[in-house]
Amino acid sequence: MGFRPFVYRLAREYGIGGEVANTSSGVTILLEGCEKDIESFERGLNEKAPPLARITKVSAYPETVTGRSIFSITQSRGYVEKSTLISPDVCICSDCLDELFEPSDRRYHYPFINCTNCGPRYTIIDDIPYDRPHTSMKVFRMCRECQSEYDDPGNRRFHAQPNGCAECGPRVTLFDNTGKSVITNDPIQKAALLLREGYILAIKGIGGFHLAVDAENDQAVLRLRKRKHREEKPLALMSYAISHIGKYAIVGEADEALLTSSQRPIVLLEKKRPHPISEEVAPRNKYFGAMLPYTPLHYLLLHFGFTALVMTSGNMSEEPIAIDNDDAFLRLSRIADYFLIHDRDIYLRSDDSIVRSSAGATRFSRRSRGYVPTPLFLKQKMPPILACGAELKNTICLTRENKAFLSQHIGDLENMEAYDFFCSTIEHMKRILHIEPEILAYDFHPDYLSTRYALEQEDIAKVQVQHHHAHIVSCMAENLLDGPVIGLSLDGTGYGSDGAVWGGEVLLVDRHRFTRKAHLNYVPMPGGAAAIKEPWRMAISYLVDAFGDGFRDLDLPVLSQIEDHKINVMVEMISRRVNSPDTSSLGRLFDGVSALMGIRNHVYYEGQAAIELEMIAENGREKPYDYEWTRGNVRKILTGPIISGVVHDMETGVDPSLISGRFHLTLLRLFRELCEDIRAETGLSRVALSGGVFQNAILLTGLIHALEQSNFQVFSHKQVPTNDGGISLGQAVVAAAVAGK
Ligand code: ZN
Ligand code: ZN
Ligand code: FE
Repeated sequence: MGFRPFVYRLAREYGIGGEVANTSSGVTILLEGCEKDIESFERGLNEKAPPLARITKVSAYPETVTGRSIFSITQSRGYVEKSTLISPDVCICSDCLDELFEPSDRRYHYPFINCTNCGPRYTIIDDIPYDRPHTSMKVFRMCRECQSEYDDPGNRRFHAQPNGCAECGPRVTLFDNTGKSVITNDPIQKAALLLREGYILAIKGIGGFHLAVDAENDQAVLRLRKRKHREEKPLALMSYAISHIGKYAIVGEADEALLTSSQRPIVLLEKKRPHPISEEVAPRNKYFGAMLPYTPLHYLLLHFGFTALVMTSGNMSEEPIAIDNDDAFLRLSRIADYFLIHDRDIYLRSDDSIVRSSAGATRFSRRSRGYVPTPLFLKQKMPPILACGAELKNTICLTRENKAFLSQHIGDLENMEAYDFFCSTIEHMKRILHIEPEILAYDFHPDYLSTRYALEQEDIAKVQVQHHHAHIVSCMAENLLDGPVIGLSLDGTGYGSDGAVWGGEVLLVDRHRFTRKAHLNYVPMPGGAAAIKEPWRMAISYLVDAFGDGFRDLDLPVLSQIEDHKINVMVEMISRRVNSPDTSSLGRLFDGVSALMGIRNHVYYEGQAAIELEMIAENGREKPYDYEWTRGNVRKILTGPIISGVVHDMETGVDPSLISGRFHLTLLRLFRELCEDIRAETGLSRVALSGGVFQNAILLTGLIHALEQSNFQVFSHKQVPTNDGGISLGQAVVAAAVAGK
């Protein structure tokens, strides 16, 4: 972060002698001068630190005076550097942005301008210490001018490893999708013109390729969807400035802070009506995901006057994004018409992060570029652990002392490409963070690729962690809680201790163990995973559960939309329990309700049916549906009365948006009263919320509010995703506790 040069300049300012170096305990500064100057220095250290520096602690000790009058930066030594932190990739800083558009500057319009305060880091590092030979900049030899900046402690580019200019640094080139280069003296301007004409461009960025089209062009967006096999999942947008985003979305104060932060995540923002963006960008969704440019190349491209570009990850849906030029041509030439590429290699892929501001805090759907590998600080010291994460939205986690390093978003471990990425990320992170794990943590699910990876490793202690235990402990860890707490794990799936698919769980949790206190009643999932892709199957299952065979007489859209013989097959599967595992998942209940209301029978992406049910919800003066649970040690929440209530409203023609509102309200009341019931039994009044269902903003905001009104202390995720992207953190913390470390 240019911290040592900052210390150097500050010491010079006060005429203090001494030195600064990176050591195993952090940054060590030796100062010799009069007391008054040293005091001013210390104040300056806190007040004038570079924008990206985060000082966690300052300790001062007396040292023997040796008469130093000059101040110097001492060379860092390899073994020492290994424990210092590696920076995430940082968006272009305002100084560099000014230079980029200053015609007299020698880097005018140079698409790779950067300095010690900005530019790529994590994605271009191959090994430590973080010096140029260990980055993908090693092939570029600095010209005289760049080298003198690099060597000058008073310069903003002192030891900026990716430093370069048009003469000596990386370059962009434009190709068509047959690999023929496009003759032009301004590839970026030409790329902008092609986008204007409706072409699809593959654009190499910081952590991988994007696929881009003009977001106002319906035909272009549709063509991109078709070629990428991404039917309906919302696409991310990138705009030049906040004022551009303001044309199509509502940008609140907290949203603006997130958008302009140096991490530059995709921020979910409520759509404005009317707006100029193609409806195909985020169909049936109340939100747009938008971000500001984060590389100089993005700025140059968007400078040509687009309201927004679609900037979606450069992959065939569900595969990892392309990072290598050859690989990109191989995999993306059937999608993209043109390729805007450059010759700075990406060593490690890192997708854009996705956040939203909700219930007064930042909520991550995906924590990746810009945030990784910044560690989370834990309450307790940890042994070196590798936690393998879950199956969907996988991340891995490595621990060292009180720090947890979560990886970038690896994705769904459902194909070999994703599995290879998973394995290479583990090796890469172990190397650059210098962590050799002694304990391996992994999920209960026998078929997860991450579980199989764990079982293949030899000579290492292994700890199996239940999915929902990991969810709740992940929430506890980032809130520095030990437990016990009441844990609400409201989720899509998760392999339960009894082999059923859990996901509507109220648990008593501490780091070592959990006890199940309540869960949604079991219903069969006819066809297993097929029931996730085809929510109408869940609708039938809940209807059979609530009405028995009499469900056929009901007047419901799902029963007229789905052919009778298909329904008969489902009923057969359910009654004979063929390939129909039991589930207590709240995600499936959302799916089932969405389908029986005729909102969505098939989904194109995970959670679509539930999301569309949330999107139509209206908060009227509605009343909750009846709900109840069985008494006893493990309470069973009965879904029958809720389903009956929804069906009754459907049959009497109540507006679907009110039904959705009532359904949400029912869940808020139900879980609040359940927590009160469990508080009466256990005396616990702290509640931790986790699981993928809390991506639902109505449920998250509503439940925090409702529980706080009942005098609970409520803890939720603000640093890692509430979905399975946060699982690896919880796994690591449980494993440390179970191993007694
Ligand atoms: Zn900069
Ligand atoms: Zn140069
Ligand atoms: Fe989960």
